[in-house]
Amino acid sequence: AVPLVVAKSTALSAKNGLLIKNRTAFENSRKITTIVFDKTGTLTVGKFEVSKVVSLQKELLENEILRLASALEQKSEHPIATGILQKVKELSLPIPATENFNAITGKGVEATVEGKKILVVSPGYLKENNIPIPDSFEVNDTETVVFVLINNALAGFIALSDEIRPESAEAIKTLKQNNIKSILLTGDNDKVAKSVSETLGMDSFMAQVLPHQKLEKIKELQGKGEFVAMTGDGVNDAPALAIADVGIAVGSGSDIAAETAGIILVNSNPKDVVNLILFGKATYRKMM
Ligand code: ADP
Ligand code: MG
Repeated sequence: AVPLVVAKSTALSAKNGLLIKNRTAFENSRKITTIVFDKTGTLTVGKFEVSKVVSLQKELLENEILRLASALEQKSEHPIATGILQKVKELSLPIPATENFNAITGKGVEATVEGKKILVVSPGYLKENNIPIPDSFEVNDTETVVFVLINNALAGFIALSDEIRPESAEAIKTLKQNNIKSILLTGDNDKVAKSVSETLGMDSFMAQVLPHQKLEKIKELQGKGEFVAMTGDGVNDAPALAIADVGIAVGSGSDIAAETAGIILVNSNPKDVVNLILFGKATYRKMM
């Protein structure tokens, strides 16, 4: 039987945007010492808007870069894809068909479009493949960038911006007041991660983290004696959510993340993570 205080808190949680799937996760929430947050869609709104398109080849138009990228992105569900497709829609560009589409996990997408091999990839992918980033490359620290390659030659880049959620700063501040560390974990580039982490006053950040590394990062923190909660939304986040002491899936995310996690943040609001911990503490204090 579920003790009454727990039942009450669970109902109270539902009102506050928390869905508790697993009572152990709720019980564990009071012991959390570190929370690992994913960035996009949890600390940020998760809506990317194209802020800049730059061609790096003579006689290659910006719209052509967008048009080719959109062919690949129509096959992807990443928030970056949604942002690029929105821009292409606004410009009324026709989206060409693709063949051999492939998602390169944590790095981007590739496909054949009109007989050409097209890649839309992260700065990390360029580094790994020793493709130099040109001098004309300049974006704000808050912008996410993807590069477009045509037949393995760098053709241009697309910068996108997302916004920090208005609730995030207060959530991080309250965690700090309760002696709980917050760490940002993201597949996005270093500059963006640093900027979000510093703006919110988080304890540290880890950028360009590949999906299989997320799990390792959680284990690493646990090895240092931390009791770790993690928030995540993607299919890629599921293994890390499973190993975390408290796995928290963001409501707007994938079904697999939701199935794996013990707790679901119905409104994707980071402040509800704080409520979870405070509820957990209050509930089990009453019982003991
Ligand atoms: P996150 O969930 O933190 O955004 P991902 O592993 O999903 O991390 O993505 C990491 C990086 O890989 C992105 O910042 C981007 O550079 C690149 N990427 C992933 N998917 C796409 C896509 N559909 N189009 C372009 N770039 C992508
Ligand atoms: Mg993700």
